[in-house]
Amino acid sequence: MKKNVAIIGAGFSGAVIAHQLAKAGHQVEVFESRSHIAGNCYSERDAETSVMVHVYGPHIFHTDNERVWKFVNEFGEFMPFVNRVKAITNDRVFTLPINLLTINQFFNKTFRPAEAQQFLAEQGDKTIENPVTFEDQALRFVGRDLYEAFFKTYTVKQWGLQPSELPASILKRLPVRFNYDDNYFSHKYQGMPKDGYTAIVEKILNVPGITVHLSTPFKPEQKGDYDHVFYSGPIDAWFGHRDGRLPYRTLDFEVHRDQGDYQGNAVINYCDSAKPYTRITEHKHFSPWEQHEGTLCYFEYSRQCEEGDTPYYPIRLARDKVQLEKYVKLAQDEPNVTFIGRLGTYRYLDMDVTIDEALKVADKFLACATENAPMPAFVIDPLA
Ligand code: UDP
Repeated sequence: MKKNVAIIGAGFSGAVIAHQLAKAGHQVEVFESRSHIAGNCYSERDAETSVMVHVYGPHIFHTDNERVWKFVNEFGEFMPFVNRVKAITNDRVFTLPINLLTINQFFNKTFRPAEAQQFLAEQGDKTIENPVTFEDQALRFVGRDLYEAFFKTYTVKQWGLQPSELPASILKRLPVRFNYDDNYFSHKYQGMPKDGYTAIVEKILNVPGITVHLSTPFKPEQKGDYDHVFYSGPIDAWFGHRDGRLPYRTLDFEVHRDQGDYQGNAVINYCDSAKPYTRITEHKHFSPWEQHEGTLCYFEYSRQCEEGDTPYYPIRLARDKVQLEKYVKLAQDEPNVTFIGRLGTYRYLDMDVTIDEALKVADKFLACATENAPMPAFVIDPLA
């Protein structure tokens, strides 16, 4: 039976679910409080330089997931792009993630892979058997010198917390390589949408049966007008922050326009305290197939997210999880609403994971609709 569905948020989560449901014949209304689609992946051309800008900061698409890669490629051309990050620390430039070149340059050595591996094992603190914190993880696997040069201060700038307060999982996002591979990511597929992310999301939403309302906040009281609601806003906002605000980091971007090539690379991290920003992104290097005389850079600053700011990174310390548990319980008692995506489940999600989960949420909804079974509040456990 055809259902009347509301989807809150037109980022990847909302758009993918809208697409799958509309294609299966359901009626979908998408409510987006911002004046544009594509959430934090939103990209647009800068009027002055015509450079394609990742308005909410750099987004590089990378995945091992065949279904996701096939899905996004249906909606636009992905150009080859490999993220090769540089990192500046103590007035020297290195390659990141830590690889054989980083190790050799940093320690002034000419190690081969096995030698570097042995050397780093000696640098590591073997008394830390089971790393729990970011700091433990770094000291155990790369040792104090590399930790202090590349991770310690950057992490304080990024998270506003000491690495000893943060979980090891954050550092586990970055590999350590004993070869000269300087690809920031280890996934099979990586690329940049030729016409930007907004064009991709626009096509995902361009299915008969989907209506998109921009600049239109949705109030929980409106849910009675629909058979089901998918909510990709902040989970605590749905419940009026009744158990307090879940903490996030937000980002500020200082825009710098110039001529020519400002830094010679898309992303350069500033890992020590010499600069107050975490990184500089030069957006035209994300589209190396385009030619632009002008250039546009974002100097990126991270700070605590206050009311009215755009939430970026959920912090998820142990104490935040206690608060999250309360919201999860409330959500589970809320009929006909499914909480989705980075903000709806309060997790640090890459784009490919977001799309994969959205496809799974849509699969679940379609299965529940066929079996006449209730749709759960969460398809992916936010506490896992
Ligand atoms: N990180 C760091 N130094 C760097 C890059 C990353 O200490 O030069 C740490 C930092 O804590 C960051 C985490 O590693 O939050 C994960 O990095 P990633 O590049 O995945 O962060 P994102 O691009 O998602 O902000």
